[in-house]
Amino acid sequence: METQRELEQRALGEVHSAVDTVELERLRVRYLGKKGELTARLRSLGELEPDQRPEVGRWINELRRSLEEALQERRRELAAREEASRLQAETLDVTLPGVPPSWGRRHPLRQVWEEIEDVFLRLGFDVAEGPEVETEYFNFEALNIPADHPARDMQDSFYLHGVGPGLLLRTQTSPVQIRYMQQEAPRTPLRMVAPGRVYRRDQLDASHSPVFHQVEGLVVGPGVSLADLKGVLSLFAREIFGPAAKLRFRPSYFPFTEPSAEVDVSCPLCGGRGCRTCSGSGWLEILGCGMVHPRVLREGGYDSEEVAGFAFGMGIDRIAMLRYGIDDLRLFTQNDLRFLRQF
Ligand SMILES: [Zn+2]
Repeated sequence: METQRELEQRALGEVHSAVDTVELERLRVRYLGKKGELTARLRSLGELEPDQRPEVGRWINELRRSLEEALQERRRELAAREEASRLQAETLDVTLPGVPPSWGRRHPLRQVWEEIEDVFLRLGFDVAEGPEVETEYFNFEALNIPADHPARDMQDSFYLHGVGPGLLLRTQTSPVQIRYMQQEAPRTPLRMVAPGRVYRRDQLDASHSPVFHQVEGLVVGPGVSLADLKGVLSLFAREIFGPAAKLRFRPSYFPFTEPSAEVDVSCPLCGGRGCRTCSGSGWLEILGCGMVHPRVLREGGYDSEEVAGFAFGMGIDRIAMLRYGIDDLRLFTQNDLRFLRQF
């Protein structure tokens, strides 16, 4: 049978060399628990000779006390060590290089949109907005667009028959002219630009898209003339295409202006000498404009005998393409970061 001394050495030795608090608890149960070794020895005191019992009983109680002390001490040590290693594991090394956040940037169309807005804001224009779901009245009738105009055909515009009668996705930003005039009349002078998204039934290819962007411009006031129109657009062209940009006005026809003109800018890529982008002509078409038709002025609430106005409309997508030499419209909407990061 194991001697008292051997049991004492074994028990204390195991407690001292326990590697964690879980093992320590196991040792406590093994020696001091209800079915533990010391408890068992205490119970078997009765089997000893009566004169041996007090001495062995004292020894068991002393060993119990010293085991309890050793357990407590070892528990403190191990708990402190476990806490330290937990803290070590959670330590944040602030000297490690971080992961830099990836910055986004404005889409090239949005950049050009804001630049155009900015040019006109500096000239004292207001920025107006209109709904993308329009009525036939604002999109066509009020703009003097006759019933047989091709844009009014279902083949060319997105009608929303299921939503309401005469509703469609606006085919141009020009309806904002009417909405703004009706809201502001008879105030003069009226100066506004209206950038926004427009919709037409076009197949998507390198130069057509069913969704694109326009900026509408409108000035109304007494004595407003074609000279004012040319002055404003020339300044705009120099701001957007550079100080050497020149404009060329060609007579044209739009239902809502009279007279009307299409405007070309000297090719910013070749300086007007002729290149592939401008088909060798040195000129690029950028916008349509004209003096506001008297019927449109009257529809807006103005007396066409008292005031005159000019209006223009241009494609933001087209201007961005010409400015940056982009040859495919689809690049704007493909979310290819290799493309978008260049701007
Ligand atoms: Zn050119």
